[in-house]
Parts: sequence; structure tokens; C-alpha cells
Amino acid sequence: LMRESYLNEKDVGFKQVKQDLGHAVVVGGQGKLGQLFTQMLTLSGYKVKSLDKSDWQDANAIFDGAGLVIVTVPINVTCDVIREKLTQLPSNCILADLTSIKEKPLAAMLAAHQGPVVGLHPMFGPDVGSLAKQVVVVCHGRQPDAYQWLLQQIEIWGARIVEADAVRHDNAMQLVQAMRHFSTFVYGLNLCKEEADIDNLLQFSSPIYRLELAMVGRLFAQDPELYADIIFAQQGSQHAISDYLDNYRDALAMLKSGNRQEFVTQFQRVAKWFGDFAPQFQHESRAMLQSVNDMKTG
Ligand code: NAD
Repeated sequence: LMRESYLNEKDVGFKQVKQDLGHAVVVGGQGKLGQLFTQMLTLSGYKVKSLDKSDWQDANAIFDGAGLVIVTVPINVTCDVIREKLTQLPSNCILADLTSIKEKPLAAMLAAHQGPVVGLHPMFGPDVGSLAKQVVVVCHGRQPDAYQWLLQQIEIWGARIVEADAVRHDNAMQLVQAMRHFSTFVYGLNLCKEEADIDNLLQFSSPIYRLELAMVGRLFAQDPELYADIIFAQQGSQHAISDYLDNYRDALAMLKSGNRQEFVTQFQRVAKWFGDFAPQFQHESRAMLQSVNDMKTG
């Protein structure tokens, strides 16, 4: 029900928090996330101008009178674009970015611009039907009072704002994004190389396996460049992924040695570490599995 009401709002528009903004500029406005934020801002009554790759010769005119500039270009060019092109913004203009990593872009924005600065990371892709219940991470930069309205606006779109320190955010992303997406990639690669018969697998599949396969398969319906960006963006991700490989190798050695008791011991150790989360996750996933079962098509 809640989701429906947000979807309806997306058709008719949203309340506008800041009436006297001037206009907003989306740098990378033709991109996937750039278009989504352009749409959300436009639906909320703001005037939005796009500045994409081939528009830099008009930059002065586009930035003139801007109250908000949002940078949403590919990760590997983000800091260069900020450093080289965003040093002459109006002094009271808010400079924000949507990059999936936060420490370096935030530092680049603070160095390039003397006015309000805020780092944002939408924890969702452009294919979400609505922002209801989605999360946007906020890393504060400078003059939070000046951009408080923007956070409120994002909440009006239905998203939840989660504040984070940029370095801690980037470390967490190595686990929840780089490591996770990389494992999903390898899982898919393995099915491909083993020439698994998906039709056949689905016939034997219980809801939980179907859900897992859906989570793996959906990765490969998306843009490889985006996932390459996320996985290759941070050196630290290699450590997180190597640790995972070490643990996998150790677990395989345990299996090969036939040490069944060790498996049970390790299992119990992990269960103890999960604590109350384990039964909570079991409970939550039961409801999810029920709906997968209800919508099962093949
Ligand atoms: P995208 O490739 O769809 O869009 C990037 C846009 O930037 C393109 O229109 C491109 O032409 C433009 N661009 C490239 N170089 C430019 C330059 N020098 N000047 C101006 N524009 C330039 O990428 P996207 O998926 O929309 O991602 C954009 C940002 O959003 C990235 O930083 C990414 O980390 C972040 N992000 C993406 C997602 C997602 O799921 N797509 C989720 C969260 C965060």
C-alpha cells in the first residue's frame, strides 16, 4: 500500500521543499542515475538543466544562477571532473555527488568549491520503480544547514537518509558491494563454465534456490560497466575478496580432509556470531520465500 501511494506521487508530483533554489544542474544528466534524479527534481517543481560530456562549452551559462549542482558521471572520471571543471560555481551553490564511493569525491568537492558540499550515495539502481523504502547514504561535507532541504526532499520521495562517515562508508562498500557483486559474478561464471542447464535446475528448484538464482541472474541483465566500476573502484576491495577466497580455500580443505566435526564446530561458531540475527533472518526470509512461491512461473 505504501509503495502504491509513492508510485502515484511519481505520476502527479511531489511537494517542493525549497521554493527559491534557482535551478539545479545535473552533471552527467543524460546518464541513468542523472535522468532519475532529473525526473525526481522536475516532479518536485525544480528547474533542472543537464550538463553532459559534450556540453562543457556552455558550462558558464548553465551554471549561472544554479543553486544545486549534482555530479553523477562514471566513477573513474568523477574526481577529475570536480577538480577541473567545478571550481567556479556560485558561492552559495550546493555541490553534491551521487558516486558509489565517497571519500575521494567528497575531498575533491571540498577542495574545488568553498560553498555547501554534500556527498550522497543512492543505494539503488536506476531501475527502481519508486524510491519508497530505498536508502540514500549521506556524507556531510560543509554547511549542512544550507542543504538540509535537499535531504528532506529526498525523504519526501520516500527514501530513508542514512548518515555515514565517508571512509567507513567506503570500507563497508568493499564488503556489501564489491565483495558481494564479485562473488555473484563468480557464481554466474561458474554456472556458465559448468554449462548448467537453467531450465532443468529450475524444475528441481525450491523457492529458496529460485530466489538465489534470480539474485545471481539479475546481475547479468545489467550494465557490466557499472559493476566493473564498483568492483575496481577501491584497492581495499581486493583484500576483502582475497580474505573470502582464503576462507573458501580453508573450508574446501576441511571438506577434502573429511573433517565433518570441524564443519559442525565452525557452523556453530558462525551461528553464535550471528546471534539473534540468525532467527530474525530466518523469520524474514520465510515471508520472502512465501511470495516467491506464490509468483513462481516456471
Ligand atoms: P551512466 O554511465 O549511465 O551515466 C554517466 C553520464 O555521465 C553519461 O551520460 C556520460 O555521458 C556522462 N559523462 C561522462 N563523462 C562526463 C564528463 N566529463 N562530463 C559530463 N558528463 C560526463 O552512469 P550511472 O549508472 O548513471 O552512474 C553515475 C554515477 O552514479 C556513478 O558515480 C555511479 O557510481 C553512481 N551510482 C550509480 C548507480 C547505478 O545503479 N547506476 C547506483 C548508485 C550510484
